[in-house]
Amino acid sequence: MTLHRPDRLADALALLAGDAVALGGGTDLYPGLRDAAPPPHMVDLTRIAGLRGIRRDGTGWRIGGATTWTQVLKADLPPLFDGLRGAAREVGSVQIQNAGTVAGNLCNASPAADGMPALLALDATVELASDAGTRRVALADFVHGPRLTALARGEILTAIHIPDAAGRGAFLKLGARRYLVISIAMVAAVVATQAGRIVRARVAVGACSPVARRLAGLETALAGATADEVSAIVSACAFTELSPIDDVRASADYRSEAVKALVVRAVSATMEAK
Ligand SMILES: Cc1cc2nc3c(=O)[nH]c(=O)nc-3n(C[C@H](O)[C@H](O)[C@H](O)COP(=O)(O)OP(=O)(O)OC[C@H]3O[C@@H](n4cnc5c(N)ncnc54)[C@H](O)[C@@H]3O)c2cc1C
Repeated sequence: MTLHRPDRLADALALLAGDAVALGGGTDLYPGLRDAAPPPHMVDLTRIAGLRGIRRDGTGWRIGGATTWTQVLKADLPPLFDGLRGAAREVGSVQIQNAGTVAGNLCNASPAADGMPALLALDATVELASDAGTRRVALADFVHGPRLTALARGEILTAIHIPDAAGRGAFLKLGARRYLVISIAMVAAVVATQAGRIVRARVAVGACSPVARRLAGLETALAGATADEVSAIVSACAFTELSPIDDVRASADYRSEAVKALVVRAVSATMEAK
């Protein structure tokens, strides 16, 4: 196996136009190999200037395609990002957060990827680049199913874009134990309020459908609600976007019940005075 470590995006894209495979922190790729040999050519993206770190751009925020979870935790971000920060804290352990990247989490396309609901609630779009050019895709259209993304051959995720918005985020993850655990369910919310009432709510759920989903019906129902009304509104909602399954971690019924409780807690957390 040859590990290429380019420091220019153009060099990485030229390598990836052949048979090379992109590598972030390797925290999904290497465990996924099990006993198989690694691909013959891998391209480490982490040395490329412009792919690491978070910065403001004209219309919001740009998270580079090799930004680690630890960089998310250390960045000076507004309360809008409290959910993404919460997800960063929940990804594996500190060692995994130091190596693992946000982009790798999305590109791996696991139904239990903690980054997906947090970024869906932030209305994220992803920037994809190949030696043929660059395009942008809404995150909701980027992941098609377990291990299935819109990435074309030779294309990499160069950035995640988050539009400016008012509001505060929250992220809650339920697992069979407190740390280092694959999610049974997770919920991210971004809520903007005015005079104690919800002006706009964005709520996304992971690990309860093949791809994490926004709850459009609930988001509409929450508009205008006070904190005291949230629980009743959530109870009355059918959550038709979700299709939880029975698996080794939990039953579908348990997931359905747990998600309702998590949604109430996450939305309520965003409305608490800080
Ligand atoms: C012990 C352990 C605990 C974990 N706990 C959690 C957890 O709690 N929650 C969670 O969500 N995940 C968890 N993970 C999974 C993993 O750490 C995360 O998904 C991480 O964000 C993956 O990022 P990475 O940079 O390591 O990806 P990599 O392993 O480098 O890459 C993953 C896939 O994405 C592709 N890729 C990477 N970057 C790009 C890019 N910029 N453009 C195009 N393709 C790209 C690679 O080719 C590969 O197919 C855990 C993993 C381990 C080993």
